[in-house]
Amino acid sequence: MDNGRSVELLFRALLFAADRHASQTRKGVTEIPYINHCIQVAEYLARVAGIDDVEILAAALLHDTVEDTGTTPEELEREFGSGICGIVMELSDDKRLPKQRRKQLQIEHAPQRSSGAVQIKLADKLANVIDVVDDPPRDWPLQRRIEYLDWTERVVDSLPRPNPQLLELYRRTLQAGRRKLNA
Ligand code: ZN
Repeated sequence: MDNGRSVELLFRALLFAADRHASQTRKGVTEIPYINHCIQVAEYLARVAGIDDVEILAAALLHDTVEDTGTTPEELEREFGSGICGIVMELSDDKRLPKQRRKQLQIEHAPQRSSGAVQIKLADKLANVIDVVDDPPRDWPLQRRIEYLDWTERVVDSLPRPNPQLLELYRRTLQAGRRKLNA
């Protein structure tokens, strides 16, 4: 893809995600706009993992649109093509299943994920660990936050070929987070 089209695709994905998440905030007390999370995940991929594949970066911006905004796979495929749609679908839990089952499936499905989906999943867990340590949902007791960190570690441990720099940052962040929570 030439440079102009890459930039265009990235901005189109960013605008689409911002539009779909427009009325949503993160679960933390500070109620950060949801789109900040999507941008953060893409930014980790570019800055920490050195990823410059625009399909992966666009999929990172869009990674929660199906799971959290009711965007359909058909829409994503029409707007962004089957490559990006496929990555987002790899990262979308089936919300018809009970929460515990969905969490278990993230671990069971991890080994089959494509490389792009693996790096997005890792950056997503890194961002979520930071949120749960520094800006947790109001109603989460300490124990739930600690268990969440433990679960992200099980998901990350099951990912095939994670980017080494991103993995290193995740591990350091997890360790610091556990210290902060006295876990
Ligand atoms: Zn996410």
